[in-house]
Amino acid sequence: MDDRTGPLDAAHDQARRFLEGLGTRPVWPTASYEEMLDALGGPLPEHGQDATNVVESLARSAGPGLAGIAGGRFFGFVIGGALPAALGADWLTSTWDQNGAMTSLTPAAAAAERTAGRWIVEALGLPTGTAAGLVTGGLMANFTGLAAARHRVLGEVGWDVAQRGLAGSPPIRLVVGEHRHDTVDLAARYLGLGRDAFVLVGADDQGRMRPDALRTALRSGAGPTIVCLQAGEVHTGAFDPFDALIPLARDAGAWVHVDGAFGLWAAATPRLAWLTAGIEDADSWATDAHKTLNVPYDCGVALVRDPADLVAAFAIDADYIPGSGEDPMNLVPEFSRRARGFPVWAALRSLGRSGLARLVETLAARAASFAEQLARLPGVEIVNEVDYTQVMLRLKDDALTVEAGRQILAEGTAVLTPAQWEGRAVLRCSVSSWATTEDDVAQTVAAVERVLADLV
Ligand SMILES: *Cc1c(COP(=O)(O)O)cnc(C)c1O
Repeated sequence: MDDRTGPLDAAHDQARRFLEGLGTRPVWPTASYEEMLDALGGPLPEHGQDATNVVESLARSAGPGLAGIAGGRFFGFVIGGALPAALGADWLTSTWDQNGAMTSLTPAAAAAERTAGRWIVEALGLPTGTAAGLVTGGLMANFTGLAAARHRVLGEVGWDVAQRGLAGSPPIRLVVGEHRHDTVDLAARYLGLGRDAFVLVGADDQGRMRPDALRTALRSGAGPTIVCLQAGEVHTGAFDPFDALIPLARDAGAWVHVDGAFGLWAAATPRLAWLTAGIEDADSWATDAHKTLNVPYDCGVALVRDPADLVAAFAIDADYIPGSGEDPMNLVPEFSRRARGFPVWAALRSLGRSGLARLVETLAARAASFAEQLARLPGVEIVNEVDYTQVMLRLKDDALTVEAGRQILAEGTAVLTPAQWEGRAVLRCSVSSWATTEDDVAQTVAAVERVLADLV
């Protein structure tokens, strides 16, 4: 039990092999969930096994069931890779085993998190003093921002939700776009805001909220109001027109929250900042470090303009903990947790402001290149305006699109994932990893071309 270096050496060796193999292994897993249950299943063994053997056998068994997310040709969903510095720091985070909650017990973790949060605020051009809490992902970042919002908008009508709870409170209107991410609905549910609280606002053909529709929606009622906007629609990558929308919400006295899970990072480069113009006037923002910033899973970032709103929603007072106003746990829903600040700090430190700008610009440039090359293939139609990192394509009819999607996954060169847009089948291609090169784009386009040649 006390051999600590054997398992670490084995992990290092396995990690190297995995990374070295990414260029040639199929990007989609070759084993199914059922096969993985067989490989990793069975009853709980009666007796233990040597730790080094455990690590080696885990790597051996899991191998065929792993997706090539860390490589350069994974374009499914919106996922992101892991920058080398962030990956190294993530290993240390596990090794150090710090509890990220407190400044007193774990000052290095708390300081890394505080600094990383400040750097993110600075890089994205958000108001100085904006508080940042590191959570598990975009869903929880939305939850955290909306929890601060709930506290504030109820407080403004004299209802202290921390004291009185929600039962009997004035109703909250949650004004959302038709094309909001599904996690906004789930975050609202956690907060006791059911679908009856939602006011849906219409969108344009790229999924951007329409200002005239927001104006009408805001006038349709009154009382405590939260407006939830979006930076980066998950299919099209489109951004709500913040410049036009936020002043309308402000006039109505609403709290403005922005879900920018992958899109908020456009603000990090002057070349793309037109997409996020006006976004700094919101009250809270949610983003992911494990998507565009390329930090390993899991890491989301909740940003709230006035730290007092976040603290009001989440601070706790435990009599056995020497509390400090700066404790990271006062800014997030969790108590004990992983010291997520280390990999985020390392990612930002390795990139610097210019490297971060270049990372985001490059993702968008690769997406543009994809759109251009795919559009040249016979029968391929690019469905969205490619301003950011998302490309959607479709073929002559849905059956063909679906079949092409299936064959592309099976072919193994790259991963594009199927979806529906405006009632029709599409294939989504999301460029979100630092590891994607122009050659990866070319290889992927060639694979799509091969599949289509047999199909069309
Ligand atoms: C991915 C995503 C989320 C959810 O983030 P998780 O990290 O998966 O919890 C929310 N909103 C948008 C726009 C996203 O792309």
